[in-house]
Amino acid sequence: MPRICVSGKRSMLLENRLRPVFALLFAVIVTGPPAPDEGMTMHMRTIAFMLLLVFAAVGLLAVFQRYAPTEHNPFKPLAITDPVGAATFHKLAGLEQDTEKCFSLLDEGGIFYTRLDDTTPRRHCGFYDALTLDQSLAPYSATLRMTCPLTASLAVWEQHVALPLAEEILGSPIARVETFGTYNCRRIGGGTAGRLSEHATANAIDISGFKLADGRLISVKKHWGQDSPEGKFLHDVREGACRVFAVTLSPDYNAAHADHFHFDMGAGDICK
Ligand SMILES: [Zn+2]
Repeated sequence: MPRICVSGKRSMLLENRLRPVFALLFAVIVTGPPAPDEGMTMHMRTIAFMLLLVFAAVGLLAVFQRYAPTEHNPFKPLAITDPVGAATFHKLAGLEQDTEKCFSLLDEGGIFYTRLDDTTPRRHCGFYDALTLDQSLAPYSATLRMTCPLTASLAVWEQHVALPLAEEILGSPIARVETFGTYNCRRIGGGTAGRLSEHATANAIDISGFKLADGRLISVKKHWGQDSPEGKFLHDVREGACRVFAVTLSPDYNAAHADHFHFDMGAGDICK
């Protein structure tokens, strides 16, 4: 979609040119049916009305484009520092189509990584648009290899969900995120048939808990479902993840996830 300029001299010029058109359109709509000798038919009025609607839509779009907050505006570029909003997931999901944009986003967000060569041939298990995570906004218990879009989503989740919630609910920063890992060449459910897991292309991460700076260990297996600060923290971390990842699975999903969260950036759409 072309960008619509609404500021500066160009918008003034456009406004001046459109003013008589709007005046005519409003006259047609507001002043009622024209006399027959004016040659104005119902067909022409319909066209004028449709034109008015188009102009109104373009105007609203221009106002939205200029004034909507970045996190709700799909036309503005994503930054990891942006709050999570209505457009955040849409932008994160779009990174799959633009690898260089994705890596630039990580660079600007202070994420350190080493790019991996794509696996060839490009099929089944392997690494595509992937990296080894050297340093994200939170430390992890293992070295992670994963796709760029998953890394970007993880950074947004760290900055706007996990890190602030730990301080807010538990009163301590996160010292380390405990993970079961990312890449694993297997099918969903671990059998020999069926669709490949997002783990098979390093597009998913499993998280089992959080080590806090004060020494506490918050465990999905132990604390999930508890009516306690630890239980509330895990619940809210899951809810926040649902706004960032395509698929968020917790112990509520099935017994296979009783001891960890699964986040991925595949084609699914699950939050449970
Ligand atoms: Zn998983």
